[in-house]
Amino acid sequence: MSIKRYVLKNLNIDHLTQLPNRRAFIKKLNKEIDIAKNNQTKFFIISFNLDHFKEINHNLGIQWGDQLIFKIRDRILEYLEDKKSLFRIQGDEFVVILSNTCNIEECEKKINDIMDLFKKPFIINSHELYIKISIGAAAYPDDGEDTDSLLKHLDITLTTVKSQGGNHYQFYSKDMNANGYKQFILRNDLEKAIQEEQFIVYYQPLVEIDTNKIISVEALIRWNHPKFGMVFPSDFISIAEASKLIIPLGEWILRAVCKDYIRWKQLGFPEIKIAVNFSGVQLQQIDLVESIKAILDEYGLNPSFLIVEATESVLLQNTEKVVKDFEQLKAMEIKVAIDDFGMGYSSLYYLKHLKSDIIKIDREFIKDLNTDLICSHIVRNIVSLSKDLKLSLVAEGIENKEQLNCLREMNCKFGQGYLYSRPILVKELEAVLKMGICIPAV
Ligand code: C2E
Ligand code: MG
Ligand code: MG
Repeated sequence: MSIKRYVLKNLNIDHLTQLPNRRAFIKKLNKEIDIAKNNQTKFFIISFNLDHFKEINHNLGIQWGDQLIFKIRDRILEYLEDKKSLFRIQGDEFVVILSNTCNIEECEKKINDIMDLFKKPFIINSHELYIKISIGAAAYPDDGEDTDSLLKHLDITLTTVKSQGGNHYQFYSKDMNANGYKQFILRNDLEKAIQEEQFIVYYQPLVEIDTNKIISVEALIRWNHPKFGMVFPSDFISIAEASKLIIPLGEWILRAVCKDYIRWKQLGFPEIKIAVNFSGVQLQQIDLVESIKAILDEYGLNPSFLIVEATESVLLQNTEKVVKDFEQLKAMEIKVAIDDFGMGYSSLYYLKHLKSDIIKIDREFIKDLNTDLICSHIVRNIVSLSKDLKLSLVAEGIENKEQLNCLREMNCKFGQGYLYSRPILVKELEAVLKMGICIPAV
C-alpha cells in the first residue's frame, strides 16, 4: 500500500474498533444524500450512545470501557446486513446509515432489533454488564436536506432522548428543535446568568385557611433571560442540577431571601417564615447544613424564619445523609417540609424516617378534590394522618372555591394556590404582607 493510501485509510478509521470514524461517516452521508436526491428516495440514519457510559469508565476504568465498546461493535456488526453502515463517531456514540430503509416502520423495526441486542449482558473480565442505550433517528429529506441540518437534528433527537432519562428511542420532530434550541441556549447561558444575577425571586403566600392569616411565603425563582424573557423553573432547574450550578444558584436564592426578610423586619411587617425549595443535588451537597448556616450568619439572622422544602421524589437517594441533615436543621429551629407529597415512591417511608414538620399535598390531589371521590378519600386520610403525627398540612394549588370548601370541611389547616395569590414580585407582596392576611378570591 502506498504511503498516501495508508495515511488516508488511517484518517478514516477509528483505531479502537477499526470501524469507519466520523470523517468517513460525513463522506458517506454526503454520498448517500446525493444518491437519494438523484433517485428522489428517502433514507434513515440512527445514532445511539450508551446510558451512563461515563460511570463505567469512571468506576471500572477506561480499559473496561474500551472492551465494552469493542464488544458492542461486534454485536451490532453481527446483526447488520450491511457491515459498512456502522460508524463510531466519538466516545460511546455510534451511527448507522440505513441507506435502503425508506419507511418509518422498517426503521422502527431495526431500532427495536438493536435495542433487543442490549437485553443480554456484555461479559467483561468475567463480569456481566447490563447496558442500556438511547437512540435518535432522523430521515432524509424530511428532517434535513443537507448533511449539516440532518446531523444537527439527529443530535437534537439524541440529546432529547438523553434528557428524558435515556433507555428509549425517538424520531426527530420539529417541536424538539425549538425545545432543544432553547435548552441549549439556557444551558450555555446559565453560568453567566448567575454571575450577572439575572434571576428574580417571586413569592407566594401560604395561608391559614380558617383565618386567612399569612403564615409564610414560598420563594419561587424565575430567570429573566435577555432573549427569552421570563423563564420558569421547569425549564432550567434540571439544567442547573445537571451542571451542579444549582449549588451557587441556590446560595444566591438564599441570600436574596435573607435580604428580603431583613427588609420586611425593618418595615415592621407581621412575623412570617420563608420557605425555600432545595433540589436533589443540593440535598446531596456534603456541606449543605454548613453552607445554609454560613449564609444566615453572613446576615446575622436567627435561622428559625427558614423552611427548607424538599420534593419528595428526590429524597430517595442517600436517605441516611438527608435524615442527618434534617435533624441538624431542626436543631437550628429550621422547619423542614416535604413538598409534592404523594407523588414520590414511598411517601409513608419518608414520614417515618425524615421526621419533617410540614407536608404539602401535591396539587394533583387537590385539582379534582370536589369531583373525584378517590382524591377526596386520599386527602381526607392525609389530613387525619397529619393530625396524628402532629405535622402541619398544606394543600398546594388551590384554584377555586369548591376545592377550598372541601378542604375546610376536611379541616385541612393551611393552603396555598392561585385562589389566594399567584407567585408575585416583592413589591406586590409587600402590600399584602403589610395587612398580614390574604383573602381568597371567592
Ligand atoms: P413547588 O415547590 O411545588 O412550587 C409550586 C409550584 O406550583 C410553583 O410553580 C407555583 O407557581 C405553582 N402553583 C402555585 N399555586 C398554584 C395553583 O393554584 N395552580 C397551579 N397550576 N400552579 C400553582 P413554579 O414557580 O413554576 O415552580 C415549579 C417547581 O420548581 C417548584 O415546585 C419547585 O420544585 C421548583 N422551584 C421553584 N423555585 C425553586 C428554587 O428557588 N430552587 C429550587 N431548587 N427549585 C425551585
Ligand atoms: Mg415548594
Ligand atoms: Mg409542590
